[in-house]
Amino acid sequence: MLENLNEIEKTALEALASVQNESDLESWRVTHLGRNSSLMQVFSGLGGLSKEERPVVGQAANRVKVALEATLADKTESLKRSTLERSLSEEKLDVTLPGRTIHQGRLHPSTQQLRRVLAILAEMGFQVYTSREVETDQMNFQLLNFALHHPAREMQDSFYVDARERGDNPILLRTHSSPGQIRSMQEFSAKDPKNPPPIRIAMPGMCFRYEQITARSEIQFNQVEGLAVGEGITFADLKGMLTNFARRMFGVQARVRFRASYFPFTAPSAEVDVECFVCGGKGCQVCKGSGWLEILGCGMVHPVVLQNGGYDPKRYSGFAFGMGPERQLMLRYRINDIRYFWGNDVRFLEQF
Ligand SMILES: [Zn+2]
Repeated sequence: MLENLNEIEKTALEALASVQNESDLESWRVTHLGRNSSLMQVFSGLGGLSKEERPVVGQAANRVKVALEATLADKTESLKRSTLERSLSEEKLDVTLPGRTIHQGRLHPSTQQLRRVLAILAEMGFQVYTSREVETDQMNFQLLNFALHHPAREMQDSFYVDARERGDNPILLRTHSSPGQIRSMQEFSAKDPKNPPPIRIAMPGMCFRYEQITARSEIQFNQVEGLAVGEGITFADLKGMLTNFARRMFGVQARVRFRASYFPFTAPSAEVDVECFVCGGKGCQVCKGSGWLEILGCGMVHPVVLQNGGYDPKRYSGFAFGMGPERQLMLRYRINDIRYFWGNDVRFLEQF
């Protein structure tokens, strides 16, 4: 029996010496120390031995078991170490390789242009006033002097949010930034109704129209509205301010012209053109041969609108203007399709 034990130990140790990896090590453990191993069978056979044999064989079997377990622990440790050393030497990190560049985001071109416009207006004393994008018909049209069935509404097809049971005052997405004129005037005049404070604000934001989406028209676009209200404001102030704006935006040599126009909420009204910066006024494809590019609409605030905002038109006057940052960008960079702006095509966006 003792010789048998020596044989078991010798065989196990020889087998262990040739083990090269952790899975072989595990199967070695099952074979030589597991429940069905020859060594464990010696233990379970102890009961059948004589009183004299039992402690001797038991002791010897224990010694073999302890010896095998200790060798197994050593082998486990050395296998781990060699695995680590191999991975360190084979998977070396090459610190001289160039790093992976991180793709950096940037502001949307519309936002960039919006900020350019607002920065220029801020230098002229216009503070930003934000107004809501969901409006009532009253704010979007009626108080701006668009009568209920006025044909001027035709130019601003609307997205109605809730038209049922609201009669003549349905809720809609604002079609222009001008309802901000009424909201701001009402807010400021409410502070001191007898003596409302002067106003000089810029109102940026998204507007929505129920249009067919084509290269020239979109259902959403940004506008920047400007409003100045005070005592003694004249059309000369409007011309001076907008001429100055055009020079700051398009360069000191930029020439502008004012063309008579019509908006229900301003009188007199005008559209402002800047001399074509592509051809210098000679006439080209961009300006369609005219030499001029339309950049904004403007006018003196209509007395009815001042009244609706809580400003007495006998005492106060003011001017307003509205412009589109996307349109300015299209002129500036000769972008021929307005759908690029909300198409989310990175090939377009990363050029700005
Ligand atoms: Zn031109």
